Amino acid sequence: MAVLPFEPDCPADIHVPLVIVGAGACGISAALAAVDAGCEPLVVERDAVPRGNTFLSSGFIPAAGTRFQATRGIGDSVARMVADIQRKNEGQADPVIVRTLAENSAGTVEWLADRHGIPFDLVDDVRYPGHSVLRMHSTPRRTGEELIACLHGAAEAAGVDVVTSARVCDLQADSGRRIRGVRIARPDGVRETIACDALMLACNGYGANTELVARYLTGMETAVYFGHEGNQGDALLWSESLGASLRDLGAFQGHGSLAWPHRILISWALMMEGGIQVNRDGRRFSNENGGYSEQARKVLAQPGGTVWNVYDARIHDFAMSGFEDYRRADQAGALKSAPSAGTLAAVLDLPAAELEETLRETAALAAAGAVDRFGRSFDPDSALKPPFYAVRVTGAVFHTQGGAEIDTSGRVLGSDRRPFPNLLAGGGAARGISGSGDSGYLSGNGLLSAMVMGALAGRRAAALMRERY
Ligand SMILES: Cc1cc2nc3c(=O)[nH]c(=O)nc-3n(C[C@H](O)[C@H](O)[C@H](O)COP(=O)(O)OP(=O)(O)OC[C@H]3O[C@@H](n4cnc5c(N)ncnc54)[C@H](O)[C@@H]3O)c2cc1C
Repeated sequence: MAVLPFEPDCPADIHVPLVIVGAGACGISAALAAVDAGCEPLVVERDAVPRGNTFLSSGFIPAAGTRFQATRGIGDSVARMVADIQRKNEGQADPVIVRTLAENSAGTVEWLADRHGIPFDLVDDVRYPGHSVLRMHSTPRRTGEELIACLHGAAEAAGVDVVTSARVCDLQADSGRRIRGVRIARPDGVRETIACDALMLACNGYGANTELVARYLTGMETAVYFGHEGNQGDALLWSESLGASLRDLGAFQGHGSLAWPHRILISWALMMEGGIQVNRDGRRFSNENGGYSEQARKVLAQPGGTVWNVYDARIHDFAMSGFEDYRRADQAGALKSAPSAGTLAAVLDLPAAELEETLRETAALAAAGAVDRFGRSFDPDSALKPPFYAVRVTGAVFHTQGGAEIDTSGRVLGSDRRPFPNLLAGGGAARGISGSGDSGYLSGNGLLSAMVMGALAGRRAAALMRERY
């Protein structure tokens, strides 16, 4: 991974206007936007089958003021979405970038739906912590697998060229901070050079790079990494070499509910519907409605680093009907059930008296609509009733959120705050909007940054081409 000096005497194998590194949600959104704006991008992807973190995700993207919300009579606004995002990150994100993403969120979801046939709709039955209204959008199966398949189908229909099994290993830059091309490595060791007029980094963060995790994510060195192995920090390393302004390098999305040892994501919707988490002592230890990202550290801090999600048949039925991952967990034998608190304690090998007391206390809080000592509000409608269900979970790192600062069109900023002339970035490859640690991540910040900034940067790259010729 290096930034090499541009050598005019070494001819490139091909020349294209725009190279996009990475074929996840960010890269494909950028490519579709560039094509629509009259520019022909080349997407270069290291894997034989492009997947990225997008494939692993739940595929939920937040957007404010969409027609999908209007159809359900849900009133939302850019100001409200900005307030939700900034409340979660305690005002640490760049307010101009947050506003830009919120302002363009509805337009991006509707453009992808209407022009490129991505079958988005509002997720109208799952409330996510920190969003004051229903604003998550997804494709019908609610999986990242479906989202990435739809995006690649759209890219193919739009004539976007995606070169796979091609890892970008080096960038070439001239003395004027202009990117002149990239070198790619094929699995058989063959190297090729692609000259370009503009470069977009859409190759996500550094979650799979243990050295960078140890450097920036203090205390999470031994946590399970549940993201894509392609997140090797290439964009961060190039940005650093180029002298970009780097911010929030300790920011990441964690998750406090990864079925263990099955490694299947158990939706946080279980907690939002009334579920609780108990540790090996049969005790609750946190506000489960606070946020699933910061919950990773709290779960890992419990004895043995695992806890049980405990819920009831109503929540089980809801999750079975709404979440493919949950059904997979069921098939994998990760779910336990029992007719009473006492028998559940025996099934889970937890101290019976403590678990019974925890469930009694939770029922009393729900009946009273009270707030507990951790600050969680309980609601009579979501009181847990036998029979009970449970799944053992651990905390994990999903993806990192820090990186190169960008402007509102995705142009990478140098440490002098001047944009590089033809270098863009988005999604996990750039600084996100989740503050500096683990608690600033509001659900959906990942795909919001990837798809909305991807689209903005793709348009900006096309504009750069028009200005150039
Ligand atoms: C389990 C899980 C659930 C999640 N759920 C959600 C959710 O519901 N909503 C949400 O908003 N976010 C969610 N996220 C986060 C979300 O997945 C990411 O923020 C988003 O997918 C990032 O998109 P991207 O295009 O930037 O990166 P990716 O999708 O990771 O794509 C990057 C691509 O770049 C390729 N690449 C890397 N390096 C190179 C290189 N040197 N050369 C060529 N190619 C390269 C990779 O192979 C990869 O295909 C979730 C994450 C996980 C792990």
